Amino acid sequence: MKKRLISLIVAVVMLFSMLCPAAYADDETVSFDTCTHEWETPLRSGYSITIPGSDVSFSVKTEQCKKCKWYKHVATIFIAEFTYYSPLNVDANGLVPTELATYWANVWYNNFGKNATATKFTPGRLTSGGGVRPSQGYADDNGTPSVGSNGELLIAVYPSIGTSQDSLQPYPTSFTKYSNYGTLTADGLSIKYTKYTTETHIGNSQIDIWLNYSVVAPVSGFYYIKYGQTYFSHGYYSGYYDVTVSAGSFSTRGEKGSTVTLMKSAHHALNVDMSLPFGGSYTSEIHPIILNVIPDSSPFKKQTNVTINNNTWNGNIYTDNSTNLTYIYPQYTTINEKNETVTNISNNPIIYNNETYQYYTYDSVTNNYYYITYPGQPTPPPPTATPSPSPSPSPSDNDRPVSDRYYRWVITERRGTDDGGYMRFKSLNWNFMIKIKILSRGLRMLVSSLA
Ligand SMILES: [Zn+2]
Repeated sequence: MKKRLISLIVAVVMLFSMLCPAAYADDETVSFDTCTHEWETPLRSGYSITIPGSDVSFSVKTEQCKKCKWYKHVATIFIAEFTYYSPLNVDANGLVPTELATYWANVWYNNFGKNATATKFTPGRLTSGGGVRPSQGYADDNGTPSVGSNGELLIAVYPSIGTSQDSLQPYPTSFTKYSNYGTLTADGLSIKYTKYTTETHIGNSQIDIWLNYSVVAPVSGFYYIKYGQTYFSHGYYSGYYDVTVSAGSFSTRGEKGSTVTLMKSAHHALNVDMSLPFGGSYTSEIHPIILNVIPDSSPFKKQTNVTINNNTWNGNIYTDNSTNLTYIYPQYTTINEKNETVTNISNNPIIYNNETYQYYTYDSVTNNYYYITYPGQPTPPPPTATPSPSPSPSPSDNDRPVSDRYYRWVITERRGTDDGGYMRFKSLNWNFMIKIKILSRGLRMLVSSLA
């Protein structure tokens, strides 16, 4: 009986401690629901969340409403930007309240799958995370996918570069040119202009850079520039400048195998920056231009949901049978300012390679590629021996047997690591789970004692 009484008291105390913050919020003169928010930056304007057993750590930015005092939490996690509203914020000691930590962990697991972990691609890191950059499915090195969320093809057009119309060389190229005051060195897409004088007055140092952007059409269709892009950045001519192409500034029909020329002999003048010291330099960057293509007949199979190894994805999904790649633009939900749940389709795909059983994506926040893995995910088939001298892919984390990987995941999960953020996150999470358990046990006992 004593035990029952104690559990009854515990349950009641727990109930009140859970309900009180809500009651307090309702007492505010302006409630969150009816407030027309005015956001400002609070003293603590951000925190970061680490996903256990992953290289995933994302930062959450917070703003506070002047009127209702609620906080708006915003984080970009690979595929999309997610928003959450709460009366809570990270505290003065940097501790993240359980509600927030739990919310963000759920955003991760709901969007990337149960027990999903992600490993950052690091060049040269062979023992974990895959030493090979997942280039398949990307149009360039900056994470531009080869298929857009609307099913259009995206191709990166790299320019021929030269210092005159007659000296254009196809990408990648390198050359050096001298002026009265300096040396210009082109290497790939970088152009470095170094000052070799102590003069500071403006002298004759002009060197022109010529660019031709054209591409052989991979399919028949309609070729156009869908969005504005900078294709020449940090040039100098009596001041630093960038050059852009705007959305819709180019469009043409292209037949498969024909040459589509989107820019012929564009030239940009460069001078030495005379404010630099002797030997000082600046570097201009040339960028590929991304062309969208509406193909006459789509080479992809479009689906709105697909199940791969027990993971079901909803969204815009395109399978390219010629490359064994599936482009998954996941459907996701986030919260709007009226605290309603809204559903969107991501603009950044998760790519699944049907041959290697690998998922990967590009994170535009950190400009890194990530492999996403799951316990129980099939391992790639053993590589078949080929006599060709082509370099074999580096061994990766995913080459380990499934059981081993799952085991390691469980171990790290249970034992914890020396990672401070992870430990903190986990301990908060456990506190929360323990509270919930006590609460539900108390409630059960309360119900049974009343019965
Ligand atoms: Zn407000």
